[in-house]
Amino acid sequence: MLMDPLVARMRPFGTTIFAEMSALATRTGSVNLGQGFPDTDGPPEMLEAAVRAIRDGRNQYPPGPGIPELRAAIATHQREFWNLDYDPDGEVLVTAGATEAIAAAVLALCEPDDEVVCFEPYYDSYAASIALAGAVRRPVTLRPGPAGDYEFDPDELRAAFGPRTRMVLLNSPHNPTGKVFTADELTLIASLCVEHDVVAVTDEVYEHLVFDGAHIPVAGLPGMRDRTVQISSAGKTFSCTGWKVGWACGPAPLISAVTRVKQFLTYVNAGPQQPAVAVALGLPRSYYEGFRDSLRGKRDRLCAGLADAGFEVLHSAGTYFVTADITPLGGTDGVEFCRSLPERCGVVAVPTQVFYDSVDAGRHLIRFAFCKRDEVLDEAVARLRKLSAG
Ligand SMILES: *Cc1c(COP(=O)(O)O)cnc(C)c1O
Repeated sequence: MLMDPLVARMRPFGTTIFAEMSALATRTGSVNLGQGFPDTDGPPEMLEAAVRAIRDGRNQYPPGPGIPELRAAIATHQREFWNLDYDPDGEVLVTAGATEAIAAAVLALCEPDDEVVCFEPYYDSYAASIALAGAVRRPVTLRPGPAGDYEFDPDELRAAFGPRTRMVLLNSPHNPTGKVFTADELTLIASLCVEHDVVAVTDEVYEHLVFDGAHIPVAGLPGMRDRTVQISSAGKTFSCTGWKVGWACGPAPLISAVTRVKQFLTYVNAGPQQPAVAVALGLPRSYYEGFRDSLRGKRDRLCAGLADAGFEVLHSAGTYFVTADITPLGGTDGVEFCRSLPERCGVVAVPTQVFYDSVDAGRHLIRFAFCKRDEVLDEAVARLRKLSAG
């Protein structure tokens, strides 16, 4: 037997930082603001619909592309919120979370050595999916600008495109930074996709969590509808991250390619949850607005507390997350800082440097999740205050 039986292309990937930090939180009894999952349940109508589906015997394999009522609900949602038209038969695919949609899209569309442009810090599954495909990531670095918003250098983005570029993998609203890409930034990205004849895969799982500004789906920009695979998921919008019901929408040739791979990854998933997510997608606007307003309040609550505790807090315009600079508290390395934080004050956060190829750009930054009950956020802040109290 080999010392390490793991294939070479996966060896750079250890256990995900989320698993490491969540285990640390459990072991030390810390308040876990590391992993991004809500600590309250989603809409009761949705939960009841899932229970009903189980009792009604919807417990066998659903159809490969997803049940028709869910595909129809996804298409209606895309039209009503984003003015995008997709045919539920052929242009909508239900997946095992956004994660599977991303993996299937990269595996279906990238040949070995093709290049994928993405922004760092990147969501950790992107690097792994690109590596599994034998493709090469071309990260463009997001850096905090003078106003506390993350920015990128347009020339660095232009330079990342070349003859081997096959895909842009874009996440807006962006995890871990909370950045919401602006219309100007998205227009530049779209124009480069058109110029270089590149496919866009857009991870929009936080589409309903924009607190400042507006969410702009890239698929709606000129020339993009027929070269974009738009991905989202019920997990974040309906506070059911354990259900793993996601979807991909796009032109039939791209969705057909993604389906070809997806069918051999999981085939199908979440039989009884699929009708429940169809119910959730049909909830009135007031649900979406109330959910966003609630998370905006939590963002404000945690950001104020972090600033009070001595962090330099960067601007989060969306998602479940905010990043903070540890320099004012004497920190220099986020990994060390986060590993010692449970001992020092009983709180868990995630170092963002693990999501960069240029580690130095993120060495001093850590991420907190604010998708938690107010009393949990208050307790975390009370504990973090000890850091500056000496
Ligand atoms: C949570 C998350 C995902 C994964 O979504 P699932 O539906 O749980 O697979 C993908 N992308 C980003 C940016 C996320 O934050």
